Amino acid sequence: MDSSAPLILVSNDDGVGAPGLRALAECLAPLGTVVVVAPDRERSAAGHSITLNHPLRAHAVADGWHSVDGTPTDCVTLGVMQLLPRRPALVAAGINHGGNMGDDITYSGTVACAVEATLHGIPAFAVSLAGEGAPDFRAAASFAGRLAAEILRRGLPAYTFLNVNVPNGPPENVRGHQVTRQGRRTYVDTVTRKEDPRGRPYYWIGGSAPTWERSSGTDSEAVFGGFISLTPLRLDFTDHGTMEDLRTWPLGNHADLPR
Ligand code: MN
Repeated sequence: MDSSAPLILVSNDDGVGAPGLRALAECLAPLGTVVVVAPDRERSAAGHSITLNHPLRAHAVADGWHSVDGTPTDCVTLGVMQLLPRRPALVAAGINHGGNMGDDITYSGTVACAVEATLHGIPAFAVSLAGEGAPDFRAAASFAGRLAAEILRRGLPAYTFLNVNVPNGPPENVRGHQVTRQGRRTYVDTVTRKEDPRGRPYYWIGGSAPTWERSSGTDSEAVFGGFISLTPLRLDFTDHGTMEDLRTWPLGNHADLPR
């Protein structure tokens, strides 16, 4: 392993066998030494969950490729703290099979990989392929390579990572990229209730096609317009505007509490 080249950790939530993971590892290989640590099966919508109640096993499935029986976040944690020979200069997650835009990012295991890296103080981005049909990773891989080179050169602000969504299709159909803000999804009919063969109800979350608030400048508007969306996201969820208002709420003081 070349110890002078930047070390790049690649993970995902679609599992170690996902074609998008291979596409990402391959497009980043010219920039440094790529090590893959990924879940042994699909863990989409795992969010930022970690495994606390059973041991984790990592298996080398190829040179520089590790499979872990845990969540996407587990993979980044194990990669950074155990499996990699030194601290990575960059963590990249994807290329996810499906978009991670708007409110959906809170469920995303792909985005959670970047969140976890950010908590470790390592620059990170997540990249996802949005849209139906057979996946064409070429545009996403090309953009990920250019973005990774810039991040390695410039770094990112503390507590900030980048979220990339690329419209699926041949690269010639992609109209360029736009820097965007997080959009908003409209949730409709997202839980289906049916009965099992024994007459007991069961519920199925999701399934309907997502609809989005139409608002210019958002990730979803860019992607639906044929552009790659590049969104800087922050881990500080604090709503600074509401802090002042909350201080005026008549919530009493410590002397009022039961004792
Ligand atoms: Mn996924």
